[in-house]
Amino acid sequence: GRRIVVVGGGLAGLRTCEALRAEGFDGELELICSEPTPPYDRPPLSKSALLEAQDTTFDVDYAALGVELRLGVRARALDTAARTVHTDAGEHSYDALVVATGAAPVALPGAGRQLVLRTAADAEHLRAELRPGARVVLVGAGWINAEIATTALSLGCSVTCVEAGSRPLAGPLGAQVAERLRSWWDGVDLRCGTGVGEVTTDGLTLDDGTALPADVVVTGIGVRPDVGWLTGSGLEIDRGVVVDESLRTADPAVFAVGDVAMRWSPRFGTRLGGEHWDEARTGPATVAGALLRPQSPPVFDPVPYFWSDQFGHKIQFVGHRSESDDMVFREGADGKWGAAWFDAAGQLTAHLSVDSPRHMVQARMAIDRRVVVDPDEIRDLSAPLQAP
Ligand code: FAD
Repeated sequence: GRRIVVVGGGLAGLRTCEALRAEGFDGELELICSEPTPPYDRPPLSKSALLEAQDTTFDVDYAALGVELRLGVRARALDTAARTVHTDAGEHSYDALVVATGAAPVALPGAGRQLVLRTAADAEHLRAELRPGARVVLVGAGWINAEIATTALSLGCSVTCVEAGSRPLAGPLGAQVAERLRSWWDGVDLRCGTGVGEVTTDGLTLDDGTALPADVVVTGIGVRPDVGWLTGSGLEIDRGVVVDESLRTADPAVFAVGDVAMRWSPRFGTRLGGEHWDEARTGPATVAGALLRPQSPPVFDPVPYFWSDQFGHKIQFVGHRSESDDMVFREGADGKWGAAWFDAAGQLTAHLSVDSPRHMVQARMAIDRRVVVDPDEIRDLSAPLQAP
């Protein structure tokens, strides 16, 4: 029978195995995971599971699913001509390969200790440091550090955040929306426009030479797709593994999905990186379809969706915004609000909702349907997102 190897035991790797079986694949299936534990869910690691120890392992019977789980095994190289993955536990040959190695945090220079938050082990280490009165210095005011700041404050830590940009989340959300989020950080000593030199044994040195003492430094300046092991494989890399709208690489035996993939989006006419839980959850069905039914591959082009729980608020972002898009704020009742981005033709491209899941769902549908909006009409959050 055919043999499929999936590299990377995160949400995308696990869901790929499940989707292959659901589509009737009855050959050998192997899941290679560098971590020592079976696949688990990551979003709680910066939320509830950081506050209190929590097992987020996915409830799966691997024997019943017919998956050989290789835990604690890291892929080191890929030979696409020989259809072989080289790992630190030997060679694994395949008829088809799915790359699902996710992304890994970027680190700062310096000899001092810095924590990151990507794995369950990282969450355990960080939780142990978040004691009342601990001086916690967060580098980067991005999604995950906003969530860590929330938890650290609630545990009575003294929290400082050093951010190179002008405001928290100005990159993904733009300056105006970021300005509105700034007040949420009131309990944090937030220092924007500040670069870091290096991590030292006592904390940090800022790029102007100032020392910033810390009991714990947490680096949250972004992640990079985990593609180091693909060097020399011949697969095209553009940040992540380049795939088409059916998650296929140029090699007909190799697919990529989840945070590691850089997929073509016909909808937005651009390549989009994974980096969202929802894509790792839903992309695998397309991989299974494209792999098992190459004559009629399904197309994966969802409207991207991302959420974050921070400072007592739920932020939900849908779509893909371009720098050239215009934006209007949308005001609702009970502190709910939103922001809508639209292109020169008035077509809705992206939408942010704060504490209002219903408006996220509406916006996602409107973006999917390429709705053209009247910016003045939609300033009221309760106004429908439809053509005037
Ligand atoms: P991963 O989950 O990264 O899994 C990849 C696996 O492959 C890892 O176990 C890795 O160790 C392994 N691996 C890497 N290289 C190799 C190799 N060479 N050989 C073998 N194995 C390898 N998204 C949201 O939309 N909303 C949120 O609120 C949110 N919160 C998050 C909070 C935290 C703390 C983190 C870390 C992420 C959060 N995310 C959130 C992002 C979301 O978790 C990811 O998009 C999702 O986990 C991606 O799944 P994946 O399977 O593609 O990659």
